[in-house]
Amino acid sequence: MTDKSGIKYAAVLLLLIFAAGMLTSCNIFGLGGETIILTDEESEIIPAPETDPETEPSALPPETTAEVTTELPETTLPETTEEVTTEPEPETTPEPEVTETPWYLVLINPWHPLPEDYTFELTTVTGKYQVDSRCADALKAMLADCKAAGYTPYICSAYRTWDDQVYLFDKKVKSFTDKGYSEAEAKVLAAKETAVPGTSEHQLGLAADILCTSRPWLDEGQANTETQKWLMANCHKYGFILRYPKGTTDITGIIYEPWHYRYVGVEIATEIMTRGITLEEYLGKIGAP
Ligand SMILES: [Zn+2]
Repeated sequence: MTDKSGIKYAAVLLLLIFAAGMLTSCNIFGLGGETIILTDEESEIIPAPETDPETEPSALPPETTAEVTTELPETTLPETTEEVTTEPEPETTPEPEVTETPWYLVLINPWHPLPEDYTFELTTVTGKYQVDSRCADALKAMLADCKAAGYTPYICSAYRTWDDQVYLFDKKVKSFTDKGYSEAEAKVLAAKETAVPGTSEHQLGLAADILCTSRPWLDEGQANTETQKWLMANCHKYGFILRYPKGTTDITGIIYEPWHYRYVGVEIATEIMTRGITLEEYLGKIGAP
C-alpha cells in the first residue's frame, strides 16, 4: 500500500511538475504569480491556469490588438488614399490655369467676343466713368501726369454695359441708314466705327476714350492735339497702348482711333508701342481663331 501510495504521490508530483512546465511554456507569468502557483498545492494550481489563460488573452490582447488594428487602418488607409487622391487634383487643375490668358491680355475684337462668364470689379476714375479696378490707378496716374505736364485730357467713354453698347451701335447704324444705306450695309459700316455688342473693349473694362478739351470730338484730327501726342508717347509707361493705330483696320477690325487706349500692363505695352504693332500681332491672333 505504501508503495502504491508512494507511486501515486510520485505520479501526482510528476503531473504537477509537468503542469508547471506547461504553464511556463505558455508564457503565463505575466501576472507574477508563477512562483507562487508552482509551490502551491495541486488543487489551487489547476484552476489558476484555467482562469488566467481565459482572462489574460481576452483582457490584454483585445485591448492591445484592438488599438493596433484601429490605429493602422486609420493612419495607413485613409491618409494614404486621401493623399493620393488629393495630390493629382491640384496637379491637373493648375495646368489649364497656366495656359489661360491673363485678364490684361484678353482679346476682344470682331472675331473674339467677350467671354460669357467674364466678370470683374469696377472703380470710378472720374465723374461717371469707370474701369476695371485693376487698371484704375494706372489710368488715374496717366491722366494726372498728362495734366501736370500742361495738357488737358478728359475721358469721354470708359466701361460700357451690354445695353450701353447696344444703344451706341444702333445709333451708329441709324446714322448710316439715314444717309440712304440699307440696313445690312449700315450694320457693316457701323461695325467698323462702333463695335458690335459683345466685341467692344469698353465692355471689358480695360479701355478708355480720352480727348483733348481743345478738340472735343472723335476724329483723326485728335492725333494732332498736344494732349494726344503726349498720351501716345507716354501711355506705355502706365501700361496702356493706342489700341487702333493708323492703317491697322484689317487686323483690328476697327478704324483708326487716336483716342482709344487699352490697358495691357507696362511690360507688354512698352513692347507693343516700341515695335509699333497691334495687340492682335503681339498675341499672334489675327482674324478668326
Ligand atoms: Zn473706345
